[in-house]
Amino acid sequence: MNKGLLVVLSGPSGVGKGTVCSVLRRKQADLVYSVSATTRAPRQGEIDGINYFFKTREQFQDMIATDALLEYAEYVGNYYGTPRDFVERTLCAGKDIILEIEVQGALKVKEKFPEGVFIFLLPPSLDELKQRITGRGTEAAEVIDHRMSVAMEEMNLIQYYDYAVVNDEIDAACHRIQSIITAEHCRKDRFLAGLEAAKEASKKA
Ligand code: 5GP
Repeated sequence: MNKGLLVVLSGPSGVGKGTVCSVLRRKQADLVYSVSATTRAPRQGEIDGINYFFKTREQFQDMIATDALLEYAEYVGNYYGTPRDFVERTLCAGKDIILEIEVQGALKVKEKFPEGVFIFLLPPSLDELKQRITGRGTEAAEVIDHRMSVAMEEMNLIQYYDYAVVNDEIDAACHRIQSIITAEHCRKDRFLAGLEAAKEASKKA
């Protein structure tokens, strides 16, 4: 009954998942953020342990071999993965945790945590998405083209998610996500399991 919510925020590259997550982190202090491991090189301003745990390929493969990752995916030539232990400990402590990950990884998490809350972040339009991917100005032209074609495939996977949130404006998108989390805490199923456990405990007492 006291387990936290596992929230997965996913969607195509460039849709603004990172920005939405960092604003959510500021707005909702009780929402814990899962820091991923990656083999990608840090971008300017990114800090190890805050934005990502930056790993070599060997270190990442070691994490895979020791089952230290809840999920991982290879995305545009680099590995990305969610450290398992931190997620499990946070949920057991009754805290909500948010994973900001791409769609392949999100679907793997769904197999393990079907009770999770899966939110797909959408761009206001495809033109806007391309502009956002290009506008970041940190990637080479072929990386942008690759990311755009990956993004188009990713859009088709929206059917596996519970919610769709349009990121037309950051604060509005954050507000929608916060409303979803509030509503999910009120689902009767989350109370019924606890009620059954409490009934069993009172029978034994
Ligand atoms: P970026 O290189 O732009 O930071 O991230 C590229 C993609 O990897 C984004 O779609 C981001 O959400 C995703 N990503 C970040 N961390 C993880 C992770 O732990 N697992 C998976 N599957 N994807 C991740």
